[in-house]
Amino acid sequence: MTTFNDFGLHADINRALAAKDYTQPTPIQMQAIPPLMKGRDLCGIAQTGTGKTAGFSLPSIHHLITYPHKTNPRSCRMLVLAPTRELAAQIAQSCRDYGRFTKLRVSTVFGGVPVGKQIRDLAQGVEILVATPGRLLDLIDQRALRLDDVEIFVLDEADQMMDMGFIHSLRRIAKLLPSRRQNLFFSATMPKEIAHLAEQFLEDPVTVSVTPQATTAEKIRQFSTFVEQKEKQALLHHVIKTSDIDRALIFTRTKHGADRVVRHLKGAGIEAFAIHGNKSQAQRTTALQAFRSGQVRLLVATDIAARGIDVSGVSHVINFEIPNVPEQYVHRIGRTARAGAEGIAISFVAPDERTYMRDIERVTRTKSEPMALPEGFNELVRNLPKPAAPPRDTGSKGRNPQRQRDEALAGRGEGGRGGNQPRGDRGPRRDGAAADGQPQRKRRFRPRNKSVGAHKGAVKRVG
Ligand code: AMP
Repeated sequence: MTTFNDFGLHADINRALAAKDYTQPTPIQMQAIPPLMKGRDLCGIAQTGTGKTAGFSLPSIHHLITYPHKTNPRSCRMLVLAPTRELAAQIAQSCRDYGRFTKLRVSTVFGGVPVGKQIRDLAQGVEILVATPGRLLDLIDQRALRLDDVEIFVLDEADQMMDMGFIHSLRRIAKLLPSRRQNLFFSATMPKEIAHLAEQFLEDPVTVSVTPQATTAEKIRQFSTFVEQKEKQALLHHVIKTSDIDRALIFTRTKHGADRVVRHLKGAGIEAFAIHGNKSQAQRTTALQAFRSGQVRLLVATDIAARGIDVSGVSHVINFEIPNVPEQYVHRIGRTARAGAEGIAISFVAPDERTYMRDIERVTRTKSEPMALPEGFNELVRNLPKPAAPPRDTGSKGRNPQRQRDEALAGRGEGGRGGNQPRGDRGPRRDGAAADGQPQRKRRFRPRNKSVGAHKGAVKRVG
């Protein structure tokens, strides 16, 4: 049986692993650590939750302490790119934990927080920098950071980076890296375009894989219920009240939808938090901590916000809305059944989502068990409590124009400069409702003529 001692990692790292009570490497660690210790490039197909962060950070930390040298100002020796600020913060924390008996400095760089502290942190140079692409490029443009000294480059959650429209940022970053470096590339799925991206970054890589492409974990029992969209909230309340839930992640497609679900739950006296790109960093951190600590059992999330978040003990994943990309479904339900535990995934399928569900079942080669609507469901729908009123200031970015302007200037982490996020998770809404569901001010231009748009003259009548 392989143990961490077999890898020949530096004694300071083994001490940190012992302190964390890690006894046995996970499969991805067993496959990845030996070639990485030899300096090979690596292409890893693995989701968060498999232990991949230790898989790439332990041999990297080993390299950084075995070959020490002074870091230059405004530079780093190892650069890790992650798609979201949560994931970046989580990776940085893991690196700090694994390097706690070393003198390595670990910094993070992501949007949504003031840039000044990040500039100061980088002034002397750091060994490990974990960043989201948008803010990283902002700092490079401001000459607060250069990448010529990068010895190890890690691109994490590459498929999510592509989904979020970071491809141009990645290409720009790649050009700024020195040609001699070790490259690590991780993605939960490896469709053609991701494999192509990997080729551009990697040289003669070792490929390791711990999740078969787009298949779902066997330990997850999957159910689906056909239900009208407008009746989903009542079904959700029923499921929450009648299931044995330790912790549940509830997925919606949009930020607006996530807020609405939370307000309805609150209206029924059920405590829940929402986490999505329109929430301030402080709100996201509070929500995650409350969910992690078990203080709140329900977290309503959009795909991007939840991606990569490692919370153990998620017993249920509820797909309040069905994703239109099958891989997204795999990521969602992969949040449960961690570390050998069993998990339950329940999908609420509206009539116009049936084709999505069929695609998912085809790609994952699984069939979810049908779950009938509960008895007396119409009654439940009729008696659905009114949603709670939206809070006056949720700190939600969509409702604070000044903060939006500040953050646009500062460059945001999630979605950052890309501005090309998938539908439903793009910046502040411009249509009739604010991000938390509160109606915005009425349009000033009222259509004078019902059939032609608001701006008379802008629309030409034809025929
Ligand atoms: P990751 O996929 O890197 O986000 O890791 C998922 C979780 O597994 C994290 O909470 C890690 O602390 C934990 N973990 C990673 N490697 C091991 C290990 N060898 N033994 C026990 N737990 C681990």
